[in-house]
Amino acid sequence: MTEKALPVAVIGAGPVGLAAAAELLERGLTPIIFEAGETAAAAVASWGHIRLFSPWQYDVDTAARRLLAGTGWQEPDAETLPTGAELREQYLQPLAAVPAIAAALHTSTRVLAVSREGLDKTCSAGREGTPFLIRTRDGDGTVTDYRARAVIDASGTWHTPNPLGQAGLPAIGEAEAISAGLITGPLPDVAGRDRARFAGKHVLVVGAGHSAANTLLELGTLAEQEPGTRISWAIRSTSAAGVYGGGDLDGLPARGALGSRLSALVEGGQIQLHTSFTITGFKVSDTLAVLGTTPSGEKQLDVDLLVPATGFRPDLGMLREIRLELEPAVEAPRELGPLIDPEFHSCGTVEPHGAKLLSHPEKDFYIVGMKSYGRAPTFLMATGYEQVRSIAAALAGDQRAADDVQLVLPETGVCSTDLGSSCDAPADGGSVVSCCAAEPDPELAAAACCSAPEPKFLGIPTGLAHGRSAQPGA
Ligand SMILES: Cc1cc2nc3c(=O)[nH]c(=O)nc-3n(C[C@H](O)[C@H](O)[C@H](O)COP(=O)(O)OP(=O)(O)OC[C@H]3O[C@@H](n4cnc5c(N)ncnc54)[C@H](O)[C@@H]3O)c2cc1C
Repeated sequence: MTEKALPVAVIGAGPVGLAAAAELLERGLTPIIFEAGETAAAAVASWGHIRLFSPWQYDVDTAARRLLAGTGWQEPDAETLPTGAELREQYLQPLAAVPAIAAALHTSTRVLAVSREGLDKTCSAGREGTPFLIRTRDGDGTVTDYRARAVIDASGTWHTPNPLGQAGLPAIGEAEAISAGLITGPLPDVAGRDRARFAGKHVLVVGAGHSAANTLLELGTLAEQEPGTRISWAIRSTSAAGVYGGGDLDGLPARGALGSRLSALVEGGQIQLHTSFTITGFKVSDTLAVLGTTPSGEKQLDVDLLVPATGFRPDLGMLREIRLELEPAVEAPRELGPLIDPEFHSCGTVEPHGAKLLSHPEKDFYIVGMKSYGRAPTFLMATGYEQVRSIAAALAGDQRAADDVQLVLPETGVCSTDLGSSCDAPADGGSVVSCCAAEPDPELAAAACCSAPEPKFLGIPTGLAHGRSAQPGA
């Protein structure tokens, strides 16, 4: 088989991987899709109980819409906000079932590694014309090598949450606490599927983003119905104001209401908030002792369960043999990193970008979707759909269409940060190190992060204009 006749490998059948497949098919290219889960959109299924901030009109890829149109698919109401489960049942599963996609989709098949056939990372001669090798393991444990002419990695970040410890590292005892089942996965369905696990327990939520807010509100509902349920909330910053959002001033009423409800639960004492709390270790017994430092000294919280809501990071291990060029802080493609760096951006606003900006020294290899944002938490599906449209055009040789990137961002979207990564080292005075100190150009510092937080009315009209650096205490 000539290299051009080989399929294009798509890793992950989430919203962006499936959109990539649809875009490739429309361009006359052949996808082969590998999905680790038992069905398509396995990661979305895990957070099926969460309602999206983007209405349907921004959740459906245009090539996918055209592909589905031929199947009698009924497009959901453009203005409605689906839950993750609805997104999956009403769009992603029908898309995965379209015969051309179903025939290309290998479920229960995890990609273990990506390389070039016969060449390790150091070999340059003939590299660009050599097929990619994709090593997979299926549900039976069988390991298989596939060949592909190009690779689109849309494997998301859901399976690699950030650790809870300080400095980006797991806290001492964290692995044992996870093994003992005392630390849950991200975004458990506390009032639904996972209710029995949480009812009557003392639960600690760690993190300061939308995921934390969602879990805390659901726990608040559970606590009203199940006596004995206690809720604690630990954050690293000095204040939870950034999570509460703009209240009545918030550009997105649903988000403003969410923040106001959360703030009322804290003020009413139903949620015990621990600010400036940095986790240093865990001790496992029947319960979990969470050890932390605070400005007033060491502290220990004894809880039954801990829910982490500290964001995600990309799994780059399987790309070890690929020549990547990543922005060092965010771990996104180099040119994309500065556009989405959570130090400076808290909303989904991003310049339109496609194949060119997402390229790596490894020709015809792309990271797209949630994973393309590296450690930045503000990715929106609409952004991913434009990424894969442009990449499919580039792979088909239509450079003009590939370069003609356009992005109409939804007026709503995920517009928060799941803070909790590394930028919280106490400065000498006990305050928190600000990125302003790190920005040598005073004008840039003023423009990017040192001015006061302002409501964001461009693109997605929620959140703060200046990202983490503008949070109170930063
Ligand atoms: C709670 C929540 C709410 C969100 N709300 C919105 C919203 O309102 N609007 C919006 O635009 N965006 C939203 N997002 C952000 C983002 O759009 C979604 O996370 C979206 O699912 C990202 O799509 P993806 O295809 O890039 O990744 P994913 O949906 O994570 O899909 C990746 C797939 O790859 C598979 N996979 C992983 N590793 C491998 C491997 N090694 N081999 C094979 N398969 C693998 C996974 O099983 C998964 O099915 C939200 C995210 C979350 C978590």
